[in-house]
Amino acid sequence: MTGDMPAEDFRKYGHQLVDWIADFFENIDDHPVSPTVNPGFLKNQLPKSPPVDGEKMDTILADVDRLIMPGMTHWNHPSFHAYFNSTASGPGILGELLATAFNSNCMLWQSCPSGTELEEVTVGWLRELLGLPEEYWGIIYGGASIGNMHAIAAARGLTDIDIREAGLGGRAGQPRLRLYASRHVHSSIDKSALALGLGLAGVRKIPTDDAFRIRTDLLEQAIAEDRKDGWLPFCVVGVVGTTSTTSIDPIPRLAEICKNEGLWLHVDAAHGGAAAIVPEMRHVFDGCDQADSLVMNAHKWLFVPMELSTLYTRKPEALKNAVSLIPEYLRTAHDDVVRNYMDYNVGLGRRFQALKLWFVLRYFGSEGLISRVREHIRLGQLFAEWVDNHPDFERMAPTPLSTVCFCAKVHGTNDVEVLNDLNRRLMEAVNGTGKAFLTHTKLFNRIVLRFVVSHMRTTEDHIARAWKVIQEQLKQLVEA
Ligand code: PLP
Repeated sequence: MTGDMPAEDFRKYGHQLVDWIADFFENIDDHPVSPTVNPGFLKNQLPKSPPVDGEKMDTILADVDRLIMPGMTHWNHPSFHAYFNSTASGPGILGELLATAFNSNCMLWQSCPSGTELEEVTVGWLRELLGLPEEYWGIIYGGASIGNMHAIAAARGLTDIDIREAGLGGRAGQPRLRLYASRHVHSSIDKSALALGLGLAGVRKIPTDDAFRIRTDLLEQAIAEDRKDGWLPFCVVGVVGTTSTTSIDPIPRLAEICKNEGLWLHVDAAHGGAAAIVPEMRHVFDGCDQADSLVMNAHKWLFVPMELSTLYTRKPEALKNAVSLIPEYLRTAHDDVVRNYMDYNVGLGRRFQALKLWFVLRYFGSEGLISRVREHIRLGQLFAEWVDNHPDFERMAPTPLSTVCFCAKVHGTNDVEVLNDLNRRLMEAVNGTGKAFLTHTKLFNRIVLRFVVSHMRTTEDHIARAWKVIQEQLKQLVEA
């Protein structure tokens, strides 16, 4: 019993699986977007130990239908309007398949020259599409959380404290580092502070205005206060597309403040950045050409399967200084003339992620990508109009992109508990139908439903159907 699956079997089951996927996409509307299973549903059906004798592929594939499908929340479904959606497009899936077949490790140029050079080229293409300056250098990470952490590590490394050699802890007389971001910044910034030894106290949250954008006057006050109290400010994180409402921080003003104060400006544009590819939406990146670094996830709104986020920085050497370490066994003859991506990454091994980005960028072309993102923005604005024009609903935040924050009203009351209870139940009822999937956030203590339009297969028909389901479920709740 040695060796892999025979090529003939691979061909047979590969074709079978691709047919299964094509059927799945063709009939996607017949699948509930989210499941109705209870915790433990799968674990209770699976054996405690792995099989001793190998099983037939036919049996394994049949179990996908029997065991796995009932518990799937379908992110690749056109009625998925939760979180920030992620589309795995056809060419993206094919790129992923091929990358898995190669199974290359793109840590060094030598360990996969095509992987390294394709990453440089595709990240450069994406930079151009986004209208970012040519001097921005880029790298692919698995997610924006990791990109944010690397950017903050690079910023931290530029302070006068010799963190690289001496570390942060137990050093008398050293000031504590502080980073600034709005109250609406993504939790990955706090997690970065945890991972990088800044502590949660190392992140100072600045209040926002009525459109959920950072108050730059309060930011300036906070920096001045902190300097007086002996903190060492080192970084500001601005957001283009906050997670709750897609609000866009005033990046040009943040850039000015950072320049005056000598701070690193990092922009988290994980979801919202994709809008910048649309010429009439380019303004979302106003001021970003002044940033030291910026994160954008092609796996959110640019139709590339999960785990493709890009970090751009005009200071790659600072990033390298923060995380690079080269043991003898990873030295190569080309080190002086190539960039080895492992030098810009806390991890070592790296998949051939650029392949799926290359497939997507080439298959759709810039015009294809622009028209799809543009259509999502139109649909998001249309949904916002429907909310605004309905007496039983209210919009809870501006809609700069295609995410609509809204609540059902209870006529005759402003009681937050009553309103929150109704909206929580409404979300559960809508999700329970399997016809649309939404998630929530909290704004001004209110439970607010978020309706995100960013899936490639979502059409006006889908959002109209989702809106109908929301109204029907509200009617049923109110009448019950
Ligand atoms: N930043 C923002 C603004 C986000 O909305 C998210 C996730 O939704 C993240 C960062 C984290 O992204 P990832 O899951 O790629 O780490």
